[in-house]
This record gives sequence, structure tokens and C-alpha cells, in this order.
Amino acid sequence: QCRVVCPTGAITIKKDEERVWEALDDPNTRVVAQIAPAVRVAIGDSFGIPKGTNSMGKLVGALRRMGFDKVYDTTFGADLTVYEESKELVERIQNNEKLPLFTSCCPGWVKFCENKFPELTDHISTCRSPQGMFSALLKDYYRTQDEKEGVDMKTFVVSIMPCTAKKGEAIRDDYKTDGVQDTDASITTAEAARMIRRAAIKFEDIEEEAVDMPFGIVSGGGVIFGVTGGVTEAVLRKISYDKDHNHKALGEIKFSGIRGIEGVKETSIMLGDREVKIAVVHGLGNASKLIEEIKAGKRNYDFVEVMACKRGCVMGGGQPVPAGPRTKQMRMKGLYSVDTASQVRTSNENPLVRLVYDDMINGREHKLLHTR
Ligand code: SF4
Repeated sequence: QCRVVCPTGAITIKKDEERVWEALDDPNTRVVAQIAPAVRVAIGDSFGIPKGTNSMGKLVGALRRMGFDKVYDTTFGADLTVYEESKELVERIQNNEKLPLFTSCCPGWVKFCENKFPELTDHISTCRSPQGMFSALLKDYYRTQDEKEGVDMKTFVVSIMPCTAKKGEAIRDDYKTDGVQDTDASITTAEAARMIRRAAIKFEDIEEEAVDMPFGIVSGGGVIFGVTGGVTEAVLRKISYDKDHNHKALGEIKFSGIRGIEGVKETSIMLGDREVKIAVVHGLGNASKLIEEIKAGKRNYDFVEVMACKRGCVMGGGQPVPAGPRTKQMRMKGLYSVDTASQVRTSNENPLVRLVYDDMINGREHKLLHTR
């Protein structure tokens, strides 16, 4: 496969980009990309594509032309997160322990909680983020394949994220498996756009391509992880799946108050006879205020989704700028449109997730999908 090397050593480029170029240039390294949900509706901004357009197919094509060997969708990791996080929520409710359960997929929030509310870190879900789960799975998958086939090759996992905080998450000790870093380089949407330009690829003209198998089917629920309320909506879809999963149920969840841009949103669902109280908060100022109220006993929840960036990852610090009100709105709309058009709306319906649990994870959820 043709590999494009960074055309200039004279221009100062960020360290992560350099490492990715080096990996792409190394014939003994398999370079694997995973693309976060919110990236697809923002990267087009860097190339004059209409706001909120889903450019996932073009990005896949561009990465292949740059020499990436395999390209995947982080939404697959989000589907795994939904499985693990809903299981954890149900268990904690049954045992009535460490409630509310706080989500763990936003490293900006996790770090903030560790610094400002260390007494609450036990309440944060032990689930790795979608980036963390998927990188661990990818490394494990290629290691197993290479051992079987007697191939001696290094796997270098690059995550393309809307987020600068994901770089810090990637190097955390609790995001290593057997002491090895799972995500080798985390680059932002803006950095990916810069690399595409350096490779002299005309993004606007690239034909859309699909991601690779065997992780190539993802759910719409996983895609909306990129917008505030999306994690909660995906978890609620999963929890309500068994009893009444149908379009009516999806519609009810959609209109239950977890969509929209208010700083704090609330909803509840019944789990048997138990009412499960849920809050969705975005922006660290809003989160801090909400937590003080929870600590003071003024508010009471079982599940709290926290995203550090207002509106969620669509407005992450690694996304292209400027992003005014229309851009914000169109990115959110873009992700919801991808969800609506998805054949698979919930992680439960994703046939590959079940296969991965049975054939690859094989009882090693704690090792591959959770932190300490
Ligand atoms: Fe990163 Fe912001 Fe998304 Fe948190 S909300 S994961 S800080 S982009």
C-alpha cells in the first residue's frame, strides 16, 4: 500500500502528528485508526464542506490514502461502553452502592472530579472510555491474529478525537493493558485535517469509503455519544431494550428531556418497581454546581452523565474553529441524523458486539474494558 511521508521536516509539527507520520513510514508497523463519533460532523469545516455534514466516508478514504492499514469507527467502542455501563448501573442500583454512578467517557470530567471532588471518584464508572475500550480490543485482536499466523508486526493505534484531553487519557496508567499503552497516539480533528492537507489530499474530492471489518457495524446510539445526553440516551435504549424496544420506545426516550442544550437536564425511567433518576450535565461550571447540590442533599440521582464541553464532544477543544451558533447546531443535528438513518439503533442490535464478546473478549471484560 502506498504510504505518504510528511513532505517536510522543516515545518514544526506537533509531537503526536510526528509519531503518526513515523509509524506510517515504517513497513513493519501496522497503523490502525479509530475515528470518534463527533469528528465526522466537524472535519468537513476544515475543507469548506457544509456544516454538520457527515464526512466519515471521506475521512476513511483520506486515511487509507495516507497509508493507514485499517480504519475503524470508535462508535464500536461506544457500543461496548453501553453494554458495560448499563450493566454497572443495574448492579449498583441492585446493591444500592456508590450512587449516583457518574459516566467515565469524558477525560476532562474525570480529571476535574479527581482534582476537585476526590471523595467522589469511587462513583465514577470503572468503564474505560470508548477510545480506551476499543484500543485495548484492537491491540488484543491483532496480537492474537499475529500469533496465530506467525506474523511479526507492531500495531500502532491512532485515535482521531474531537478532544485534547484524550491525549492525557491515552497515557494514563489505567489505560494500559499488561503495562502497554493501548492508544499509541491521539490526534485531534484539527490535527487530522492538517495531516490530510500535508499529504496533499483533496478531501472534498475523496470518494466515501466504509470502515473495515470485523468491527465495521456500529449503532446509532453509539454515534450520539458525541452530543450531550447521547450516552444517557444510548444507555436508556439498552436498559429498556428487553421489555419494550420498538420505535415508540425510542421516541419516548428521545423526548424524555435528555436532548437539548440546557445546562442540566433530568429524566427518570422505571427499572422494575424502582424509579431510576437521571441527570445530564455539560460544562464543568454546571457540573460543579450540580455536584455541590448533590452533596448538600438538594438533588438526588442514580445516574449522572457529565461532559466537560458545552454541548458535548461536537464542541470539543480539538474540533476545527471558529464554531459559531449555527455550526454548533448543525453538528448536533448531523449526529442525530446519522442515528436516525442507522439500520442498527441500539448496541443490543449490533450483531458484531455479541460476536466480539463471545469470540474475542471471552470473559476478559475487566482486563480489556475497565479501569482500576
Ligand atoms: Fe473531550 Fe470535551 Fe468530549 Fe469531554 S466533552 S471527551 S473534554 S471533547
